[in-house]
Amino acid sequence: MCPPSDHSHPIAVDAPDTATPGAAASPALIEDLVIANHILFDQGVVDAFGHISVRHDKRPDRFLLARNMAPGNVTSDDIVEFTLDGEPVDARGRKVYLERFIHGEVFRARPDVMAVVHSHSHSIVPLSVVKGVKLQAIFHMAGFVGQGAPVFEIRDFGGDSTDLLISDNALGRGLAGMFADADIVLMRGHGSTVVAKSIPQVVYRAIYAELNARYQLQASQLGDVTYLTAGESQACLDRVEGQTQRPWDFWKSQARERRRGTAG
Ligand SMILES: [Zn+2]
Repeated sequence: MCPPSDHSHPIAVDAPDTATPGAAASPALIEDLVIANHILFDQGVVDAFGHISVRHDKRPDRFLLARNMAPGNVTSDDIVEFTLDGEPVDARGRKVYLERFIHGEVFRARPDVMAVVHSHSHSIVPLSVVKGVKLQAIFHMAGFVGQGAPVFEIRDFGGDSTDLLISDNALGRGLAGMFADADIVLMRGHGSTVVAKSIPQVVYRAIYAELNARYQLQASQLGDVTYLTAGESQACLDRVEGQTQRPWDFWKSQARERRRGTAG
């Protein structure tokens, strides 16, 4: 039994800028991160909560993430640089996401990962809480889901009185360890985290993971479900994910159209 939690983690937190600034990230990378925030909101993956990060293109030991705010409103001025420990470089007094430890620890554990999405998307959560049921690839757009996404049980790392949030580096490391053999991990009673090698790919995966979950919930109400085999999942992963640029360009143009005339 762990010490009782204080149940009082604010999800917007003050954190001093403890790390020294270095080379600036590419403006194009920041622009993609901003538009990815908008796309994830437009596609129903995030609402006022949830976040996307990208590894810094000149400092692999750092990452970029918006300050604490709703993703649909993020502009380039809202992007903050962090160390992998979750220390802000340039928050300049702005509040940051409590759960930034997810991103730093996943980037540390998986050097191949360039982008991370954490969300509470609606169809995923039911699949995180039912014993004996796992999110599984059900259609060709979601081969990356595989034959049973692992579920992070926060009680194994933080006891039975946490607020379920990844509120420090130790919990972040516990979650990150589950990415050894997976690109998506569900978080019991909370949501999911998905990783990829680029912003367009992680956005694609977050959107299609949510759709896969929705289809799985619908199909399982009708009867026995036929899931993709491991071979089918891999073949879909190899072929369909080569096409992520097409939906990325489309979602990007839609997001820009919707925000025409507004900042950011
Ligand atoms: Zn969360």
